[in-house]
Amino acid sequence: MFYPNTFVDALADYETSRYVIFGVPFDNTSSYRAGSRWAPDAMRQASANFESYNPFFDIDLADLPIHDAGNMETSASVDETLGELYEDTKTLLQDGKLPIMLGGEHSLTFATVKACSEAAGEDFGVLVLDAHFDLREEYRGFKNNHACVSRNILSEVTENLVSIGVRSGPEEEWSFARENKLKSFSADDVEAMGMVEVLREALEYLDCSQIYLSLDMDALDPAFAPGLGTPEPFGLSAREVRTAVRTLAPFSMAFDIMEIAPEYDSGQAAMLGAKIMREFIASHAASHRKAGNFP
Ligand code: MN
Ligand code: MN
Repeated sequence: MFYPNTFVDALADYETSRYVIFGVPFDNTSSYRAGSRWAPDAMRQASANFESYNPFFDIDLADLPIHDAGNMETSASVDETLGELYEDTKTLLQDGKLPIMLGGEHSLTFATVKACSEAAGEDFGVLVLDAHFDLREEYRGFKNNHACVSRNILSEVTENLVSIGVRSGPEEEWSFARENKLKSFSADDVEAMGMVEVLREALEYLDCSQIYLSLDMDALDPAFAPGLGTPEPFGLSAREVRTAVRTLAPFSMAFDIMEIAPEYDSGQAAMLGAKIMREFIASHAASHRKAGNFP
C-alpha cells in the first residue's frame, strides 16, 4: 500500500473546501536550530494516527470540507517567499477559504497576517502564542527575520495584537513592549491567572470578530514539544494551548502552526502540532454548526 503524504481527513477538493491546509517549508532565517522546513510533512505523517471523530465537539473531521493544498514552492530569499505567500493567501481569502498554514519559520506569518488584515478591514486583531516577543527591529541583518515578526506586524499591519506565553528576550524587547503598551501575558501570567481568564482579557482587548491566530510552537514547554527551533523552558502546557486554540478558533479567520523542528525530537512536537490543528478545525466547525451557518 502507498499512502500519499497529505493531512488525514483532508478529503475535499479545493473548490468545495472551506479549510485549506498548506505547508511552507521555509526556514532560511532560523538562528539557532534550523529544520522547520521539515515540519509540514512531519505533521502530515503524524496525523495519520488520529481518529477522524472528535468526541469533545461531537464532530467528525472526515465530514468537514478540508483540503490539503500541499507545500508552497519557496524561494531562497525570505522577501520573495513572503511576497508569494502574501499573494497565495489573498487568493485563498478571495475564494472564501480559511487558510491554515503549517510552517516553516515564524517570519512567514507576516505575509499571511497582512493578507488577512486587508481582507478583514478594521474588524481585525492578531493573537500570537509564543515564548518570544519577536519584537526585534532586525536580526542578523534581516528585517524579515523570524525574531522580528511581531514588530513588523505592529509597525506595518495592525497594533491590535496580543502575545501569550512570552518568557524570553533581550531587555530592549521588554522595554519596547512596556513603552508601547503591548498587551501580553507571560507564561507565568497564564500559570497565575489561568488560561481561561487570560483568553477572556485578550478577547476583550482585541474587541474584534476576525482574529489571526498564530501558534509559534515554542510557546509550549519543550517537555511537551522538544523539537523546536528555539526551545525555552517553563512554557505553556499542551492543555493550556489546546484551551486557547479551542476558545479562539470560532473567532479566527486564519491559523498557523510555526517553528516545529522535527529532527530534534522523536515526533512529539509534530504530533502535538497536528493534533492542535485538528482541534482548531473541530472547534471552528462546531461553533459555526451551532450558529446554523456551516457545515
Ligand atoms: Mn516566534
Ligand atoms: Mn518563539
